[in-house]
Order: sequence, then C-alpha cells, then structure tokens
Amino acid sequence: MLTQAPRGTKDVLPAESYRWQYLESKMRAAAALAGYREVRTPVFEHTELFLRGVGDTTDIVQKEMYTFRDKGDRSVTLKPEGTAGAVRCFLEHNLYADALPCKMYYLNAPIFRYENPQSGRLREHHQFGVECFGAKEATADAELILLAYRLLQDLGIRNLSVEINSIGCPKCRPVYHERLKEFLGSRIDKMCATCRERFDRNPLRVLDCKEKQCQELTADAPNMLDLLCDECSAHFGQLQDCLRGAGIPFRVNPRIVRGLDYYTKTVFELVTETADGKLTVCGGGRYDNLVAQIGEQDIPAVGFGMGLERVLMLLDSEGIEIPKPRQYDVFVTYMGENRPHAFALVQAMRREGIRADLDHCGRSLKAQFKFANKTGAPLTAVIGDEEAASGSVKIKNMATGEETTVPVNEACGKVRAMIG
Ligand code: ATP
Ligand code: MG
Repeated sequence: MLTQAPRGTKDVLPAESYRWQYLESKMRAAAALAGYREVRTPVFEHTELFLRGVGDTTDIVQKEMYTFRDKGDRSVTLKPEGTAGAVRCFLEHNLYADALPCKMYYLNAPIFRYENPQSGRLREHHQFGVECFGAKEATADAELILLAYRLLQDLGIRNLSVEINSIGCPKCRPVYHERLKEFLGSRIDKMCATCRERFDRNPLRVLDCKEKQCQELTADAPNMLDLLCDECSAHFGQLQDCLRGAGIPFRVNPRIVRGLDYYTKTVFELVTETADGKLTVCGGGRYDNLVAQIGEQDIPAVGFGMGLERVLMLLDSEGIEIPKPRQYDVFVTYMGENRPHAFALVQAMRREGIRADLDHCGRSLKAQFKFANKTGAPLTAVIGDEEAASGSVKIKNMATGEETTVPVNEACGKVRAMIG
C-alpha cells in the first residue's frame, strides 16, 4: 500500500516529464495566439457548485465525484471538470464587467472522477481547457474547434476527425425530449440500467451511452437537428460556414450529446480511431445558460476540455517523437582531492547557463565516466592532478573521443563552442 499509488492515478516520472512540458508549451502557445490567457482555480470547490453547474442528472454528479466533508464540516469536491470553476471565478471577480469576451484557459488542471480505470480512463487526469465568456456568435465556437484541431495537427496527430452537432436550446429541446422519449419508450426495457435511469431524468444522455446494445437500439433515434428552432439552426449553419471557410474537415454527427447537462447549441468532439475503438481527445460546446444558472449574469459562453493523458497516448500510438532535452551539456569528472575545483567549475558553468554536474556519490574516476555516459551528456570535463596543477581542464567530446585542454577560465566558452 505504502509504495503504491491509488488506483486510476499515474505518476509522471522525471525521465518523462519533458513530454508533458512539451505539450504544455504547445498548448500555451496555441491559446495565446487566439488571445486566451491563463486562469488558475483551486483543485476543490464547494460541492454545490458542481451540483448546480454540472447538473445532478449526469454520471459525474451521480456516481463519480470525490466529495468529502472538511474539518469545518463543509462539503467540498475535487474538480470533476474545469468549466464550473472557471464560471465561478468569472463571476466572483466580476470579470464580466470588463469588455467581453473574456477569454481564458487552464492547463494541466487535475480532474477527479471515480470511474472504472482502463486504458485512457483514469481517476485523476489532466485537462487543457479553453473558455470564452460573453461571445454568442458562432465564430467563437468555430475558433475553439480550430484551436483544438490545429494544436493536435501541429503536434503531428494525423488520424483525427472533428464531429459537431447542435443540441438546441431550452426553446427547442423540450420538443425533442418528447419525441425521443416516445421513441425510447418501447425499447428502454432492453437498455442498460444507467439508460433506464437517464430515460426519466435526461433522455438525451441515452444517446451518449457507450454500451453496444444501447447504441444499436438507438441507431435510428429521431434527430435533434430536424427540430432546431430558427435561432439554433442559423447558429449551427454559421458554425459550419466558418469551419468550411477555414478548410478543416468535419462531420455532423447527431449522436454527439456530451456528458454534461449545461450544453446548448454547439457540441463537438475531436476523435480518433484506435485499436480499442473510438477515443475522444477533446470535447466541448456552448453553454449559454450556465453562467446564469450559477450567478445572476446572463452571459453566453463556449469552451472545450482536452485530456493531456489522451493526447500523449495518441502521440505514442502514432509513433510521434517528442524532442528530448538533454539532462546535462557537460559532466565534470575529477580525481579525489580536486573535488573543490570541480565543484567551482560546475557552479561557474551553471551561472553561464550551461547544464553541468559532477559526481555526488563518491565514485571513482572510471565510474564517473561511466555515469556521465549514461546521462547522455555530450561532453565531459576532466580535472585530474595534471589539470589541477596547471589550472586547466580537459574537455572530451563523448561522441568522437576528441579531447582539448584549455585554461579553466576558458572552459565555459569552449563548452559553449563545442555544443553549438
Ligand atoms: P468520455 O466520453 O471519454 O467519457 P467525457 O465526455 O467524459 O469523455 P469530458 O468531460 O468532455 O469527457 O472531458 C474532456 C476530455 O477529458 C475528454 O475528451 C478526454 O480527453 C479527457 N477525459 C475525460 N475523462 C477522462 C478520464 N477518466 N481519464 C482520462 N481522460 C479523460
Ligand atoms: Mg466520461
């Protein structure tokens, strides 16, 4: 127990964190290009925020939240998604008082859901989320889809499709709910237990069921797109025009409904086909009523969440290599009593921005070389007795074996020249 992380969680090891940092830097850059700035909100919030925000008919709220009472007997919940916290922050700090839209993103936000751990499904995962508050036009929906799509493309992911849908608004959706319930009525007995619950509370969610049996039974369910009101229909048309204009391929998929209750109009997913079936890397949509549901301001908004673990999975499955930074530019080796010289040289190099280190484990000179080699350092510096006596240092190119001896005060310049 003591040396085992909780089920459904994953460590990021020092040797692989560069992959995360690479993704993060790409994500930051993509967000910044479109004027989104970072927001950081707490890992836990009052439980009521999610009950109200995420919707108490969702799987997340019903079964998946990490909720507990703190020592002050307040019910708090570890973030099960990122949007509710962003909305709370937007309202609490009156960000709506500034000129809108208010564009923000969060990076690496840990998200907690008590799910059944399996490939691509963790109990703690991390999201890159982007939210745009105060923009009702479909250009905002389109720019978010494009941001996510281009980001994944720039990372080298090829096998990627954009699926969009509109789930209408409180004006047109109730009509659809009725139709859908009529359709489902004769089949619901054959569907899974979760779908039977969904049937009463939120029939739309039945379309999102991942059980094969349920999917087959709803294959010819009525289509929300046929029942959109004029406003929702025009909005969806504009979204498609924008995407076409931008030249990205997309597919209208009326079965995309998303797992959160707050969506209105646009919903979308970026999906890939893997050996185990469809994998959603990014999901999002418009939530025009969520801000009013949590606060008093009636402000439309749109956003998405992208799972970092899933992006990394995809990079692996497509064999895309992430440039690996080297741990050291130079490893300084030394003989016994020259340790102070070696230490001073390493510090001087670090001040010059050179990645340098020396042995801290009492290794022999031979073992130091072996270790240096293992770190992948392209250069080693040697301070043996001869070098110490003459105030010089020998620098060796590990790949070619080429050696040069320079005065200690020229070592940094030499190293720099050799690593280019
Ligand atoms: P799914 O349909 O796969 O359950 P979701 O609709 O629950 O996803 P969202 O709530 O929209 O997902 O979260 C946005 C993104 O976060 C997903 O597209 C996915 O990349 C990632 N994600 C969601 N749940 C998990 C999880 N349990 N483990 C890892 N990544 C996840
Ligand atoms: Mg889910």
